[in-house]
Amino acid sequence: MPAFDLPALYAHYLAAHGQVSTDSRQPQPGTLFFALNGPSFRGADFAPQALEKGALVAVVDNAGLAATDARYFFAPDALAALQALAAHHRRQFAGPVLAVSGSNGKTTTKELLTAVLAKKFRVLATLGNLNNHIGVPLTLLRLRLAEHNFAVVEMGANHRGEIAAYCQWAAPTHGLLTNIGKAHLEGFGGAAGVALGKGELFDYLGAHGGLAFVNTLDAQVVARAAAVAQRRTYPGPADDYPATLLAADPALALRLGATGPDVAVHITGDYNFPNLAAAAAVGKFFGVPTGDVAAALAAYNPQNNRSQRLRTARGNELILDAYNANPSSMAAALRSFAQRSAAAGQGQVAILGDMFELGPEAEAEHRALGELLARLALPEVVLVGPEMARAHAVAGPGARHFATKAEAAAWLAAAPLAGRQVLIKGSRGMALETLVELL
Ligand code: ATP
Ligand code: MG
Repeated sequence: MPAFDLPALYAHYLAAHGQVSTDSRQPQPGTLFFALNGPSFRGADFAPQALEKGALVAVVDNAGLAATDARYFFAPDALAALQALAAHHRRQFAGPVLAVSGSNGKTTTKELLTAVLAKKFRVLATLGNLNNHIGVPLTLLRLRLAEHNFAVVEMGANHRGEIAAYCQWAAPTHGLLTNIGKAHLEGFGGAAGVALGKGELFDYLGAHGGLAFVNTLDAQVVARAAAVAQRRTYPGPADDYPATLLAADPALALRLGATGPDVAVHITGDYNFPNLAAAAAVGKFFGVPTGDVAAALAAYNPQNNRSQRLRTARGNELILDAYNANPSSMAAALRSFAQRSAAAGQGQVAILGDMFELGPEAEAEHRALGELLARLALPEVVLVGPEMARAHAVAGPGARHFATKAEAAAWLAAAPLAGRQVLIKGSRGMALETLVELL
């Protein structure tokens, strides 16, 4: 039973060829298994199973268990051991580490950036949305020192201090905040807390000689960037990396630089313009040729319920944005949707689900959404979920409300929509994508 020490743990990691696992249900051949505790289980209870499935070593916080087999490695806190190991491994990596944080659009921007940078570098990037206190270390541990020469790490947070901790592990050399808006108000204690929390990335870069990519369309991002001496700005005409939104409807197109090239992309919504411009700015900064930047953006096609465009058998044109919602992204998506031309004669329908994690702001934010809906005056709005009753009270005559998704589904089944433009957006817990089969 070796006691916790980092060099010994790193030796196990290298012996496992960097194969780390935290899920004992998966096959474990040759892995270093971390027995992480969950809300209702002790990870150590699953460590024997991991060894049976072939894990080389299991890191456990149970000293009694660790004494029973030489393949156990005792750490008083297996999660802290995982994080320390990740930080240590990252220090062996000499390439740039770009951290992507912000309230909305992190994953989209991360994927766009990765596509652009992959034209020139061998990029390790966060898989999917693994952006938390477990996902960030697992991402860093996937770095292959002989293979990768660039790392892109998404960092999500819903509390103050989280991004600061992730920066201690990831030691980013470069960073980008997509925007600072109203997401996770509950954990951050209101909008001012969000700015402080997201700003921790820029604080870290400022204190360590890092470089920030600054979205000048967002005043709060600009304000927080004052903490960093090395800055590159986008996408304004006077910025280091200008870009112009040429069209948002029916497809988004943008001009890179002052003179082009112009690029038509597969993602929709004018709120994606700064995400695209960010990817172009980072690509140019790191020397990706302009033609390659344009080609990477043009080829990007999301498959993840984020700003996805679909055409259904009933001739409905869907904007499926059911991946998530918060007050800022809801407003951005609705404004963009309302601006779409109804040239094809397609009446617009917005199907919107509850926004979660708003804490004491929930009532006011849903009411504010209702007020926005009243101003936008979309022909038809379907509000789903108990919180949406607040929006419904003020949303105007085009809105109807269902307390549950099942009731909304029954209504859609009884009166099918056809030939319409439909926006679908709600918090992850609402999983509104399950309504797509009714459209
Ligand atoms: P998470 O907090 O779940 O990691 P994220 O920040 O990674 O979210 P994405 O998954 O890229 O964000 O996008 C989620 C949704 O946010 C999109 O479907 C879109 O509606 C909205 N969104 C994306 N970019 C922006 C933006 N720049 N401004 C406002 N809303 C945006
Ligand atoms: Mg994300």
